[in-house]
Amino acid sequence: ESYKRIGQVEGQVQAFLTLDEENARTQAKQLDEKLAKGETTNPLFGLPIGVKDNIVTKNLRTTCASKILENFDPIYDATVVQKLQQVETVTIGKLNMDEFAMGSSNENSAFQATKNPWNTDYVPGGSSGGSAASVAAGEVLFSLGSDTGGSIRQPAAYCGVVGLKPTYGRVSRFGLVAFASSLDQIGPITRTVEDNAYLLEAISGLDPMDSTSANVDVPSFVNALTGDVKGLKIAVPKEYLGEGVGEEARNSVLAALKVLESLGAEWEEVSLPHSKYALAAYYLLSSSEASANLARFDGVRYGYRTDNAENLIDMYKQTRAEGFGDEVKRRIMLGTFSLSSGYYDAYYKKAQKVRTLIKKDFEDVFQKYDVIIGPTAPTPAFKIGEQLKDPLTMYANDILTIPVNLAGVPGISIPCGFSKEGLPLGLQIIGKHFDESTVYRTAHAFE
Ligand code: GLN
Repeated sequence: ESYKRIGQVEGQVQAFLTLDEENARTQAKQLDEKLAKGETTNPLFGLPIGVKDNIVTKNLRTTCASKILENFDPIYDATVVQKLQQVETVTIGKLNMDEFAMGSSNENSAFQATKNPWNTDYVPGGSSGGSAASVAAGEVLFSLGSDTGGSIRQPAAYCGVVGLKPTYGRVSRFGLVAFASSLDQIGPITRTVEDNAYLLEAISGLDPMDSTSANVDVPSFVNALTGDVKGLKIAVPKEYLGEGVGEEARNSVLAALKVLESLGAEWEEVSLPHSKYALAAYYLLSSSEASANLARFDGVRYGYRTDNAENLIDMYKQTRAEGFGDEVKRRIMLGTFSLSSGYYDAYYKKAQKVRTLIKKDFEDVFQKYDVIIGPTAPTPAFKIGEQLKDPLTMYANDILTIPVNLAGVPGISIPCGFSKEGLPLGLQIIGKHFDESTVYRTAHAFE
């Protein structure tokens, strides 16, 4: 069924970079045999899933949508992919993204621009644009994305689906090609909150292969979906409804708050005073980490190597010059600069201090409240090409999602009405560290 639907719509949506029908059919056949023998009771049994192309899959091409990894076939599976095999899903293929997860529209992919299934003149968001578009278009039932500064939640909002960034450490990053290791998390994109809870449960947990994965119990997230939000204490940051946030996004959040109120929840306005510094701190820190992480792509260890080099140093330089796209180069330069000895204190260290203050803003609010609610993004999806010329405008799309990564807390985006052009809007629900259950419970109240 998945391949039938892909046959019908993929020409327009262009969500996949690699499709492996033969392998998927083999997997499905094995699962059929198991089913015939009555050997399984998995809730996710046999369901089709797509995987973002920065999550490594054994013998299945993994490019990070970059020319530098164009021909790269990994020799192992990421922990999350192994976990998906344990719960017996079927991997349909690998999904398009912005190159190395840097971007908010999928236009930074070296290979293709995925389109928003609601209107193909618009971007699907990014960087997990393929992951969100494939679910919205019905090509797969669910997908995995990664979120460093909003890359699961923002495309989920633009495509009208459900996307969760788990607490930092909830899900193993082993086999996720690193962008900014202190911020990156893998998470599920689905049509419903219930599906999302099932999928998160399947991929969570301590992993000896990732020292930042947390030794924290994985509860049954599905059991949290009680439909009961009576007495829930909601904080609404004034910075999330103020300047720079569009009228439509603001109104849709206010309407959602009314619904929660009618179900017995209470909300109050609060402040996250350091939010205004989050964007600057994020781009410094994430680019610094990226400049170190991407040093490994040198033409020797993985993927692409230039043909036009006279000697070794020249080979490194040419390979990287030809292999990386403009946005990736921009970030490597910014990151290298901010980590260099003369500038470290003024930029990198300062940004780390700001990060601490932002984290503390969240801790203060969570002393009194159960969840924080606001829009996922300031506007609905924008037109393809519209923001490509100006990186700073593009960066501003993440203004409401980035603080969540800096603080390490979980956040979900769920559909929340439509703009006047008929494009989906997203509601963001943010929770305490490792309290995805309350986030899901709140989100489920809308289903
Ligand atoms: N759009 C943001 C960036 O370009 C977020 C990316 C992400 O979360 N991977 O960095």
